[in-house]
Amino acid sequence: MGYFQINKDNMQKIFIKTFGCTLNQKDSEEITKNIAIETKIENITKKDKLIVNTCGVKEQTQTKIINFLKKIKKKVSEKNIYVCGCLVDIDILSIKEVLPNAKYFKVKEIKKLQKEIRTVKKIKTKQKKTEIIIISNGCLGNCAYCAVKFARGKLKSKPINKILKEINSALKNGAKEILLTSQDNACYGFDINTNIVELLKEITKIKKEFKIRNGMGNPQYIKLFLKELIQIYKNEKIYKFLHIPIQSGNNKVLKEMNRYYTIEEVEYIIQEFRKEIPDITIATDIIVGYPTEDNDQFIDTLKFIKKIKPKIINISRFGQRKNIEANKYVDLKGNIKKQRSREITKICEKIVYEENKKYIGKTLDVFINQKGKNNTFTGRTNNYITVVTKNKCTLYKMKKLKIKNCSTYYLIA
Ligand code: SF4
Repeated sequence: MGYFQINKDNMQKIFIKTFGCTLNQKDSEEITKNIAIETKIENITKKDKLIVNTCGVKEQTQTKIINFLKKIKKKVSEKNIYVCGCLVDIDILSIKEVLPNAKYFKVKEIKKLQKEIRTVKKIKTKQKKTEIIIISNGCLGNCAYCAVKFARGKLKSKPINKILKEINSALKNGAKEILLTSQDNACYGFDINTNIVELLKEITKIKKEFKIRNGMGNPQYIKLFLKELIQIYKNEKIYKFLHIPIQSGNNKVLKEMNRYYTIEEVEYIIQEFRKEIPDITIATDIIVGYPTEDNDQFIDTLKFIKKIKPKIINISRFGQRKNIEANKYVDLKGNIKKQRSREITKICEKIVYEENKKYIGKTLDVFINQKGKNNTFTGRTNNYITVVTKNKCTLYKMKKLKIKNCSTYYLIA
């Protein structure tokens, strides 16, 4: 247990609350490595310490974090609250309004925070079976709606041998799944004269049984080594999962977002992947209600989604963020964004459900990676679709399962 001895019967604990993406999850793991940490925030008391790892990607997330902090400051003394993560870099004033006396750490000050909380008793953190590996920080983009770049900065890739060392150590300690993550995996290595294809080639050479999920990558870089990426994706270790954020189905809106690709290029990338790996799962991100998006351009996005039929679609409504370029435009009314978000969500849920229905009656290889409630097990197919089953399974082993039914978000065996 991570305790800080005040006196015999009054132990201080360290709690952590993490918001945001896989990268932030990993940062939280790094911050709390080898110290025992509590995550059940409801158990926190006035004397305990609390780390809040924030996210600044969306207006809605910022509001959620501010509301959380307003509530939690009634339970913990402010001097014991440590706030870190992207929102500290993006809009620290909005947090300081609530917690003027808390301690603040920018994204690049994780090590300083680690030192600050290293007062507690050390333990050996248990190796996770699903290991997140950060391959780079920052990006090469200049997306007009994005505030993350203010926190994560310019692309800084980790050398391949360092990544291999981290992966080998995780595998040696029992990891079975490797999630490669960054802001943009597709521009990995551009600053150190290599790329994601070279990295995947090296990782797939590791002579152990494990699965790799390649994280999000932008189309303008994927198109530069498309054939090579498709080839390496055929390796059995790699989940047939391509996360390619599109953001809009209209080229004029993409230009105004500073997204440097066209819809035709995205369609070509997906077609080429599907030619070689027919059942690949396409995951994408869409922003609705971008200030310059008129109704016809929104319909272009709907048409494009219906055409490419992604199996996973993350939808967000545009929101103004501090200092982003898109603030130069007049924001659309909230009800327009809401109506568009509802409309596209309905269409996307229908597409995903229809796609999932195609698996009913099929027997699939499923990598079981979680024990669920009520004696259920959860796993991932080779193309990274979630399967839930009540069949008896062995964790972290492949299992052949016959799909009996499905929902919008998972298959049932
Ligand atoms: S690629 Fe664009 S959206 Fe992604 S972090 Fe960079 S600037 Fe933001």
